[in-house]
Amino acid sequence: MTAPFLPFTRPSIDEETIAEVANVLRSGWITSGPKVAAFEAALSDYCGGRPVRVFNSGTATLEVALRLAKVGAGDTVITTPLTWVATANVILEVGATPVFVDVDPLTRNIDLDKLEAAITPRTKAIIPVDLAGLPVDRDRLYAIANKHGLRVIEDAAQAFGASWQGKPIGNSFGNGKDFVSFSFHANKNLTTCEGGALVLPVDIDPPLCERLRLQGVQRFPDGGMDVDVLGGKFNLTDIAATIGLGQMKHIEAFTARRRELARRYFAAIDPALGLEMPVADFSNCNWHMFQVLLPAGADRGKFIAAMKLQGIGVGVHYPALHLFSLYRAMGFKEGDFPHAEDIGRRTITLPLFPAMADSDVDRVCAAITAAVR
Ligand SMILES: *Cc1c(COP(=O)(O)O)cnc(C)c1O
Repeated sequence: MTAPFLPFTRPSIDEETIAEVANVLRSGWITSGPKVAAFEAALSDYCGGRPVRVFNSGTATLEVALRLAKVGAGDTVITTPLTWVATANVILEVGATPVFVDVDPLTRNIDLDKLEAAITPRTKAIIPVDLAGLPVDRDRLYAIANKHGLRVIEDAAQAFGASWQGKPIGNSFGNGKDFVSFSFHANKNLTTCEGGALVLPVDIDPPLCERLRLQGVQRFPDGGMDVDVLGGKFNLTDIAATIGLGQMKHIEAFTARRRELARRYFAAIDPALGLEMPVADFSNCNWHMFQVLLPAGADRGKFIAAMKLQGIGVGVHYPALHLFSLYRAMGFKEGDFPHAEDIGRRTITLPLFPAMADSDVDRVCAAITAAVR
């Protein structure tokens, strides 16, 4: 008998949440309403009382954060080339120019030793990304940002449940002027199917954030209405918020289970295979993904096919984004960011999600050994 296919990730939605979604559907109020307000309050609580607004995607939160930070044409924004392309696309979306800084080959996050040299008078913001849920060093990051008076928009899409020095990511580690963006896409550690949240800095007016979220509309008690800014259509539904509220109850258990599974991978992957392992961080990282690098010269396509034949799904997150056609057309080329390119060519995301069994890890490791050989 063959074991069922093991995907690289799978959401865990409990029956209570499913029943609550049905209640919302029957209630007559299915789009943004009381559940959204309750979800925002729960998230704000989690983020040390900072104001939080929810959106229909993580991408929308990043775009609105850039608009709230008044980033636009003529400005540059510094980020990493080793991320989901959304991180850089939003910079283009607001008319600004992305400036990439290569990654540190160990953490696979933006190299903080190289960050300062990329700052120019045109730099308006920094978007660090916590790849795989491993937080960028917040102390070093904000020391540089504060020295240059730069706004930080943390792309913490993958870092919900991760922490920095004992406090959850989402709390302020800067001077209070930092945004934090989360994604609740189906693959993320906390999901609303699709969705996101933006943690607002002290100098940003939450009602303005709300107007940018929904057509710029402002309503008055007398029934009047005005539109003073060009807003998008980015609101989250009460159905999605209900799923998010159900997920919040489990976030600590989810993270704890992910850390256990990650530890098991470290113990079970045969060092003789020559795979490059991720940073073994079990206090800050939420283990959104467990990523190994195949040995240089290995055929990744063949490896993925061999794993699939053994009933195991693996992922690629991500090829260095400056080599996508859209970015090449802007002048970026091979050799610009050698570490990101090398990792992007060799990276493999192994299955890791809270409902996975210990025996699944062992099965993945046996399959890796067979596939590499
Ligand atoms: C998922 C993700 C996003 C975008 O989130 P969506 O909810 O899919 O729009 C942005 N940045 C990173 C690093 C991500 O992983």
